[in-house]
Amino acid sequence: MQQFKSFFVRRTISSLDGHRSPEARAAMDPSTEQPTRNRRGLLIVLSSPSGAGKSTISRLLLSSDDDVSMSISATTRPMRPGETDGVDYHFVSDGEFDRMVEAGEFVEWAHVFGHRYGTPKAPVKQALRQGRDILFDIDWQGARQLEPDFGEHLVTIFLLPPSMRELEHRLHTRGQDSEEVIADRMRRAADEIDHWAEYEYVLVNRDMDACLAQVRAIVSAERSRRVRQTGLVEFVRDLIGPQH
Ligand code: 5GP
Repeated sequence: MQQFKSFFVRRTISSLDGHRSPEARAAMDPSTEQPTRNRRGLLIVLSSPSGAGKSTISRLLLSSDDDVSMSISATTRPMRPGETDGVDYHFVSDGEFDRMVEAGEFVEWAHVFGHRYGTPKAPVKQALRQGRDILFDIDWQGARQLEPDFGEHLVTIFLLPPSMRELEHRLHTRGQDSEEVIADRMRRAADEIDHWAEYEYVLVNRDMDACLAQVRAIVSAERSRRVRQTGLVEFVRDLIGPQH
């Protein structure tokens, strides 16, 4: 547990411009595209076991907040009925996934449930440069890998179900899976939940509306952090004059 805690301890930022990651430095470099907003973008990671409400919360957040867009992962798993390539995932072959790994096109990737999943780098860099937020539906392995390079931008949220019984009930009522798949998801749920302490925010999803309100409050507070607001020095200088 201690090792998880120290891994996720947020770095102290000593000054308004005290960014150390290459991505953050690029965002500050006048030779690169400058932020179009007056704040730095957030990388919002939302993890949970399957059935805890992650997809619904994500959908509601995206539809109610124009500043947030979804990160579309690449995966080697087969497409499910109802899924669309390029919308739910970029469905790629093993060979293409290998190539993307070799070419350094992922900010993180991991084996999950026997398939590989990875987060493409380009949209993340673009969002950070533009001061926009990206939402990631990725597991704990992905959250861990983002921390070293993007820790200053990361906001990690874990959704817990109110009970394992309720989780199983939700998996049944959403009607997507066979009994066998549900049993498998329930076995894997405990493994995923085991990583709850690696996240900054942990919410128990008893009620979807209340949970969404909490996620929105977290996003709003994180956007207001001093270090994320560019141009504050100039604003305050104008406000009270340069002699202060
Ligand atoms: P599913 O196959 O049910 O869509 O997703 C299975 C699991 O993979 C989910 O827990 C999801 O959060 C995780 N996942 C999806 N995309 C990525 C990714 O790009 N990176 C990582 N590390 N996990 C992912």
